[in-house]
Amino acid sequence: MTAPAIDAVGLGKEYGGRAVLRDLTLTVQPGEVFGFLGPNGAGKTTAVKLLLGLARPTSGEARLFGVPSTQPAARRVVGYLPETFRFHDWMTGRQLLDFHADLAGVSHTDRAGRAANALARVGLAERGGERIRGYSKGMTQRLGIAQALVGDPRLVVLDEPTSALDPIGRRDIRDLIRALRGEGVAVFLNSHLLTEIEMVCDRVAVIDQGRVLYTGSLDALIGAGREIEISVAPVDPRLVAIVADLADVIRVEASSIVVRVQSEQSGARLAAAIVAAEYELRAFVPRTRSLEDAFVDLIRRARES
Ligand code: ADP
Repeated sequence: MTAPAIDAVGLGKEYGGRAVLRDLTLTVQPGEVFGFLGPNGAGKTTAVKLLLGLARPTSGEARLFGVPSTQPAARRVVGYLPETFRFHDWMTGRQLLDFHADLAGVSHTDRAGRAANALARVGLAERGGERIRGYSKGMTQRLGIAQALVGDPRLVVLDEPTSALDPIGRRDIRDLIRALRGEGVAVFLNSHLLTEIEMVCDRVAVIDQGRVLYTGSLDALIGAGREIEISVAPVDPRLVAIVADLADVIRVEASSIVVRVQSEQSGARLAAAIVAAEYELRAFVPRTRSLEDAFVDLIRRARES
């Protein structure tokens, strides 16, 4: 069995005695797109630095394909797009990629082919001969992604990869991420754009104030805490008591009750209990939730507790 692309256990970091990240445990498998979410200052960049061995953890350990990330060898198969980067803008895009291919240990004979391929993958095939100075913001961001891909990595870590892109550009990058997944590359995606995470990620971690609030599938995160509107007759105190036993009651109306359930199974149990108590169940409508709803709800609950 191949080792996970990322395997982090109990990672923590303190700066000047203040914990900015606590007990981060996660794995990312080859061919998986993993989303990393959290409000500003949550500790995302710190976590990425620890995962990549660019900062030392105060506690815990991270391994990349089985190699401790504190060893430079671990980074050999990793492509990284930092959130902010500056390129030598007197270079052409192709020259910059040649340079990064060299840094990634690509042989001299393979370099030109790799650079051309990376440029093509981000839609800059025709523009590689131009100086970076003349690139638009979106083109520079595409070039940053090409730079992360030029060494043919098995793990790609992208920090806000589409912040400067228009909707077409975002879609291109989404397609690229899906293609990488299809090739068995692991992608770790740090993004504020929740709709983007929602569209491409298999699993996610949510952190706030250095604490990990959730790690798991995206579906389970969105499904948990889902609201259901139950149309039922009659709505009487006995029914409300039965419902309140199995779910959080949000609102009671003349002919319906709105509840929140924590899993699909509890929704099913609730419907069964209503029918078993011989009430007339007219409709049972789960409200669709976006990742944004789930995210805001999770952060709010954690901060209140
Ligand atoms: P995010 O990427 O989620 O916005 P960061 O990881 O950048 O969050 O920051 C998390 C917290 O750690 C912030 O409060 C930040 O001020 C603090 N921090 C980050 N780097 C350092 C550092 N080198 N020294 C001291 N504090 C830091």
